Amino acid sequence: MVFDLHSHTTASDGALAPRELLARARAHGVTCLAITDHDTVDAYLNLTDSGDAGISLCHGIELSANWHGRSVHIVGLNLRLQCDGLHTALAAQQQSRLQRAEVIAKRLSQKGIKDALAGARAFAGNGMIGRPHFARFLVASGKVRDEQQAFRRYLGSGKAGDVQSGWPPVATVTSWIRESGGTAVLAHPAQYKMTNAKLGSLADEFVQAGGTAVEVVSGKQAPELTRRLADLANAKQLLASSGSDFHRPGQAWSELGQQSALPGDVKPVWDAW
Ligand code: AMP
Ligand code: MN
Ligand code: MN
Ligand code: MN
Repeated sequence: MVFDLHSHTTASDGALAPRELLARARAHGVTCLAITDHDTVDAYLNLTDSGDAGISLCHGIELSANWHGRSVHIVGLNLRLQCDGLHTALAAQQQSRLQRAEVIAKRLSQKGIKDALAGARAFAGNGMIGRPHFARFLVASGKVRDEQQAFRRYLGSGKAGDVQSGWPPVATVTSWIRESGGTAVLAHPAQYKMTNAKLGSLADEFVQAGGTAVEVVSGKQAPELTRRLADLANAKQLLASSGSDFHRPGQAWSELGQQSALPGDVKPVWDAW
């Protein structure tokens, strides 16, 4: 089996529609794919396993959460999509996204950038609006050269558009996943740029809340990082997950199914399935 347990579609900030993503995953040898859009499971609305021989779907999501004032992401895998509690939680999460988008637009207008909300909305379409859509608007309106520059100048950590919204605490988000029958996975720990001590206390709180896995591998990554995260997983008795965090074609480090290998001394999250 080739697992890719973290990927995005047009239902959030990915470039491919769900069917296109599935086709690309299959072409890259993936046999079990989790679509983990930001704060939505809409990608699954018209997808069934049966229509897609050769690849199985693991119902997933990537939820935004707050940990002592920082944004962190919790992936949920193997969710029961029909769960009422999940949909109630997601409605609140989606409301937070909309409110945050309004604040981002207001902050950008204070920087002289007008109409950012409408601009970002046009890129988000029917999907969850997020900072990448503002980034695309900033590129399209000539304010920045590319999306990286949009994050560096306007949207990234500490910039005007980095609005610390009202994401719920890690424990709350983790409990939603558990109540939907899913496995909670602490996503891409390296992205939080925390010391080992900080990351350790985040992992402790996550385990306390019922989290059971951590992404030891996120895309193509350095062997030293894989070792560090495998050690974290083993120290906290967390299962190990692996996903590309694919958003769009053309980014070699996050191509579907092309992640670095999990080390031999961790317990893969799928072993328990
Ligand atoms: P949001 O969920 O709206 O806070 O946006 C977070 C998303 O923005 C991430 O999932 C990435 O897809 C994207 N992102 C975050 N940082 C950067 C960056 N520095 N450059 C490009 N995209 C980024
Ligand atoms: Mn994203
Ligand atoms: Mn993420
Ligand atoms: Mn992601």
